[in-house]
Amino acid sequence: MIDTLVLASNNAGKLREFRRLLEPLGIAVVPQAELGIAEADEPHVTFIENALAKARHASAASGLPALADDSGVCVDALGGAPGVHSARYAGEPKSDARNNEALVAALRGIADRRAHYYCVRVLVRRADDPEPIVAEGAWHGRIVDAPRGGGGFGYDPHFEDDATGMTGAELPLERKNALSHRGQAMRRLIAQLEAMRAR
Ligand code: IMP
Repeated sequence: MIDTLVLASNNAGKLREFRRLLEPLGIAVVPQAELGIAEADEPHVTFIENALAKARHASAASGLPALADDSGVCVDALGGAPGVHSARYAGEPKSDARNNEALVAALRGIADRRAHYYCVRVLVRRADDPEPIVAEGAWHGRIVDAPRGGGGFGYDPHFEDDATGMTGAELPLERKNALSHRGQAMRRLIAQLEAMRAR
């Protein structure tokens, strides 16, 4: 049974989200910074490899089970870019405004605007866990040139959801969570943890 997990991220929003959903399952979530664990490198070309690298690093350093995630936006006409480079698509320092400008510029003159957000969440019970728990989510939409909406973050003002026609920044948070890659991956992760507990 897992009763404490290290979160391989120092993002306050992610910590809140994981705590809210995992504490009812009797799982305490500790951010890696609280244990003096530095952020792992993310050198890989796939989301899953980066998430696994982060989870393994946190588990090896703490001796505890660890949870990590990785996400980004993949644009069909750009061969899946920005992909794992979503956070820093326009280079350092990372900036949502410059990333969005770069994305709109890359799609200038291109009619095919299909894109999806992708998220993978990975839990390793120990650093050499041969069976990590893996939960994915994908959210399909298209990239629009003109930003809309005041909510969300990242590429949300330019990402129009296929199902509602609203951008990620126009959707109220609860509706975004119901649709989004992150929400899907979280619900699948919780379902797997609940199934483990019931065994
Ligand atoms: P992370 O792996 O969760 O840190 O996300 C990497 C990057 O992907 C973020 O910095 C955003 O640029 C982009 N991204 C991932 N999910 C979303 C989302 O739900 N809305 C907007 N941008 C996102």
